[in-house]
Amino acid sequence: MSDCVICQAVQSDKLMKLYEDPDVAVMLHPKPATLGHLIIVPKQHYAIIETVPNTILGKAIIVANRFSMFLFEALEAKGTNMIIANGVPAGQSLAHFVINIIPRSENDGLDFQWTPKKSSEQELSDNQSALSSEIQHVLSQPAAAEKMPVKATEEKQEIKVEEKEEKVEHKEEPKHESKIKHLLKYITRIP
Ligand SMILES: [Zn+2]
Repeated sequence: MSDCVICQAVQSDKLMKLYEDPDVAVMLHPKPATLGHLIIVPKQHYAIIETVPNTILGKAIIVANRFSMFLFEALEAKGTNMIIANGVPAGQSLAHFVINIIPRSENDGLDFQWTPKKSSEQELSDNQSALSSEIQHVLSQPAAAEKMPVKATEEKQEIKVEEKEEKVEHKEEPKHESKIKHLLKYITRIP
């Protein structure tokens, strides 16, 4: 999709691409929540998760898991948040399905907590009944992605990482730049 910034980035290396296979790319988020914030994207344009073919969605989740593990190693993250914002009210700002992986550490200043609502047993029971009555109807319908032709490549056995260290252009402060270079150096060593 020509006016999608993610599609443009996938094709032009506009964002810092760390990895790609025929279906999925991993890039550094240009405005990271924390250092090492990654985005995993299908290389084809899909606006929301509902439209992503299952095969590609599965690959994206597997790659997300690998890169989450990688952040624990490379940045010594103490945790990761893996976030899919599905729809504008949920915080989706780009019209392209994205999995965010945010490396976390103690006292990093991010707060994804919410205030739990207090529900009575009756409210929960009513809610369960209301949802249960809809489940069969909704799940019996094909998902949006299943109505479309699926063109996914064969599963790759290994994650190969582009060697882009020499091409890195980063305009932020030197300390940040050196950490990013360290990150990229580590990635190129993944077997
Ligand atoms: Zn796109």
